[in-house]
Amino acid sequence: MRHGSIPGARGRVLPLTLLGDPVLRTPCEEITEFGPQLARLVEDMFSTMYAARGVGLAANQVGKSLRVFVYDCPDDDERRHVGHVVNPRLVEAGGVVLRGPEGCLSLPGLEAGTERYDEVVVEGVTLDGAPVRVRGSGWFARCLQHECDHLDGGLYVDRVVGWRRRKVMWQVGRAAWAR
Ligand code: ZN
Repeated sequence: MRHGSIPGARGRVLPLTLLGDPVLRTPCEEITEFGPQLARLVEDMFSTMYAARGVGLAANQVGKSLRVFVYDCPDDDERRHVGHVVNPRLVEAGGVVLRGPEGCLSLPGLEAGTERYDEVVVEGVTLDGAPVRVRGSGWFARCLQHECDHLDGGLYVDRVVGWRRRKVMWQVGRAAWAR
């Protein structure tokens, strides 16, 4: 990511916040300071995401209420997408709406069928404040929508409806990590 290094190679693995922690339900703050602290946070978020075998991670999942997420996620054509977006905005969402299995590192061990757009575009900036535009489809589009939701204080289970929602919330109630 920086100086050709592998993202997360020099980061620290941070503790993950779990459902029930208010930071996950609080809209994150716009980032205004672009310095070494932000670079360090992004590096730590990559390390944490890889350690947990996730495909995306938002800053409030490591307890920082800041608008940034990282990802390393394939799309449906097996193309790998690796990056980060600071102050992301979901500027386009279209294509068909597909329900597919979705999980979250903040609700470990659970997943539920969740409806998402198949094509999205996210705009924001990089660590250095340079504009970035990320287009995603399929599984990667799902990931981008999931991470944008996190930064607004949302969770995928908010979008799960009917018996699927009842089932996943019952599982949350039974989960060892839930209080
Ligand atoms: Zn998540």
